[in-house]
Amino acid sequence: MSKGHVVIVGAGIIGQAHALTAQEAGWTVTLLERDGRPLGASVRNFGTLWPIGCTFGPEREQALFGLGRWQEVAAAAGFTLRPGGSLSLAHRAEAWAVLQEFATQNRSDVEFELLEPAAIARRFPAARLPGLQGALFSPAETVVHSPSALTALAALLQARGVVVHFGTPVVKVYDNAVETSTGQRFSFDHLLIAAGDEMRLLFPEELAAAHLSRCRLQMMRTVPQPAGFDLGTIMVSDLTLCHYPAFRDCPSTAKLRARLTAELPQHLAWGVHVIAAQHPDGSLVLGDSHEYADDFAPDSRADVEELILDALRQFVSVPDLRVAARWHGTYLKSTVGQTQVILQPRPRVTMVTAMGGLGMTLSWGLARQTVQSWGTTTA
Ligand SMILES: Cc1cc2nc3c(=O)[nH]c(=O)nc-3n(C[C@H](O)[C@H](O)[C@H](O)COP(=O)(O)OP(=O)(O)OC[C@H]3O[C@@H](n4cnc5c(N)ncnc54)[C@H](O)[C@@H]3O)c2cc1C
Repeated sequence: MSKGHVVIVGAGIIGQAHALTAQEAGWTVTLLERDGRPLGASVRNFGTLWPIGCTFGPEREQALFGLGRWQEVAAAAGFTLRPGGSLSLAHRAEAWAVLQEFATQNRSDVEFELLEPAAIARRFPAARLPGLQGALFSPAETVVHSPSALTALAALLQARGVVVHFGTPVVKVYDNAVETSTGQRFSFDHLLIAAGDEMRLLFPEELAAAHLSRCRLQMMRTVPQPAGFDLGTIMVSDLTLCHYPAFRDCPSTAKLRARLTAELPQHLAWGVHVIAAQHPDGSLVLGDSHEYADDFAPDSRADVEELILDALRQFVSVPDLRVAARWHGTYLKSTVGQTQVILQPRPRVTMVTAMGGLGMTLSWGLARQTVQSWGTTTA
């Protein structure tokens, strides 16, 4: 017997993860998506499942739980994951110090490996050796091709009995029902709003008060690399250590940031840090930059793209850097350092947003938490 009716707004990864989790917990679920298919941040990202970017404690636990869920769901929905871990390369002494501090502070959790340059050269021949001080290898990180995964997951939801309506914008929320742009109403016992960076339609006042900023990220994909080139893992470098909260508490992070600000002021000004992730067709997904505003100019910036490629060339040798595709992604980010924002604008209405650059990683853990909080129906 159903526990009641859950309505979910938004078929990005947050909405879909909640839909599957709620369906498995015994709820009847309807998922409403304004576009004809998912087109938001969830299909514009690197597709890296990235526990190493999460702070140790509940957030990392959520990420590791999410990794397990991604594996189960990939098997059930028929898409593939590309395990292989991540390699954080240090080309500055300060970055090497951050990695050593990070590995020491968190030694009990998983087997991080600190690698000297000779070992890096043997195991990861694409890593650039000049100036290399060392690297941290972490085995957990995994790549998923987000557009295929989101499509396959939506099909799995439908096969499991979730009612999915694409092309169905929700324009109004009542106490126990939502209304779509065509006037159709769906009543709910619980409503989950996972509308990504949409701030202006549903509960705009609550979102405006939640200290959020829109962030635009510039991304690209290279042509498939020549046969035989295997990045071997997800690679990042010094700039990334200043980006994720996981490294915030390492004593040397501030020194690294000061040095990078002096040496690479334009990269810092545009929020450039570089992740290189190889997908099954051999292409590399590369990015990104971080630009904060309410609205953005429509153009991609060639100078920002060059900053990303310049940073990439400093830590990895890629045979063919011709760009096959460029795009932007946007999300909401907390301006006061929260890694997820969960609002309850009304009883039985939950809004989830501002997962920043970790939404793919944290979605399943967050969905577990939300669905557990519903217990049984309150109707
Ligand atoms: C460039 C980039 C790189 C990233 N890289 C990573 C990464 O490697 N690893 C990682 O973990 N995370 C990454 N992220 C973050 C991650 O992609 C996001 O946190 C996550 O996708 C957010 O999911 P979401 O479902 O909240 O939003 P979205 O995917 O944006 O989905 C929101 C959905 O809601 C729909 N919607 C909005 N309003 C309505 C309405 N009124 N009615 C109906 N539907 C509506 C939209 O059409 C959209 O489909 C990255 C993000 C970007 C932009």
